[in-house]
Amino acid sequence: MTAEKRTLSRLVQLIILVCLIPVLSDAQTPLKWRAHDLMRPLPKIIIPPTQYLPVAPPSDAIVLFDGKDISQWEGVNVPETKWVCKDGYFECVKGSGFIRTKQGFGDVQLHIEWAAPLPAKGQSQGRGNSGVFLMERYEVQVLDSYENVTYADGQAAAIYGQYPPLVNAARPPGEWQSYDIVFRRPRFDNVGKLAKPARLTVFHNGVLVQDNVELWGGTGWQKYAPYEYHADKLPLSLQDHGNPVRFRNVWVRELNEQPEKEPESLPVITLAEDILKKYVGTYRENENSIYKIVYEGGKLLLVKSGNRKFVMLPHSKEKFSIQYTAIDIVFKLNANGDPIEMEQYFTGDKTVSKKVD
Ligand code: MG
Repeated sequence: MTAEKRTLSRLVQLIILVCLIPVLSDAQTPLKWRAHDLMRPLPKIIIPPTQYLPVAPPSDAIVLFDGKDISQWEGVNVPETKWVCKDGYFECVKGSGFIRTKQGFGDVQLHIEWAAPLPAKGQSQGRGNSGVFLMERYEVQVLDSYENVTYADGQAAAIYGQYPPLVNAARPPGEWQSYDIVFRRPRFDNVGKLAKPARLTVFHNGVLVQDNVELWGGTGWQKYAPYEYHADKLPLSLQDHGNPVRFRNVWVRELNEQPEKEPESLPVITLAEDILKKYVGTYRENENSIYKIVYEGGKLLLVKSGNRKFVMLPHSKEKFSIQYTAIDIVFKLNANGDPIEMEQYFTGDKTVSKKVD
């Protein structure tokens, strides 16, 4: 190949790469495996740890089912659900449709326990199938995946049609199993366009099976459903897939969706080099506590025991703060503006050290 041809071929490769970038970075686009591909490797089967179920809800949880009644749930498209509630659990009744919570939720931590029917009936997707739907759109699959092979992205704890679980941590049918789900809803901008895709983390029987995965849209069978704008809070729903799957001990914790409060901080000022250098020296609190201030790279550094160095940010000639650590410093200056004493404030304590050189 001539040098000219090589350059041209590199240019073509570059153009192809640049064209691919938006596709590869688009969270709405599924990558690699097509949904329900039987060739997709099955997750390794493991034995989950012994768990003591039911797990009692923490004090800030909203209990959606405590074993007594399903008054916080309703049938979808029917006023009263036919799902039955008995002996501390509720059970799907074939043909009765999905049920959903009356309350809507956005970002949540969800705990739910379920059991597949015993004796097991059917195979693949026909055995112990139900589903936990976040916002009525995003399904964490419920399936009897104990000695029951199906496509990888459709087994228990899969994000249906998108992500197989990392391992198969299923318990045998009839035994109670748990899902602990952390869900961050998708964010839409003010014109309803996707700003941030939904994310899911799932523990199945105490084992991590979905690690903060990014969904590319709603889940479904033979369905590619890119994101469409929806409300910030929508019900949780449970699927009627024709199998009498049981559920109990359902609780959620609503996660804070607001960004953390920003601290109030004093503006940082610039002091001239000759002023900053006046603070350089040794400061003695007592025999055991001696501090140094050095000037390095245009900044003052407070050097504490163990040679820990902290950047000092000036707010005035008297007031400084330490970057990244909640230490405030106040200097006493003499008539010439030279520091004679340094006060350090940290977690409510004040120490005073005299400048000794
Ligand atoms: Mg399902």
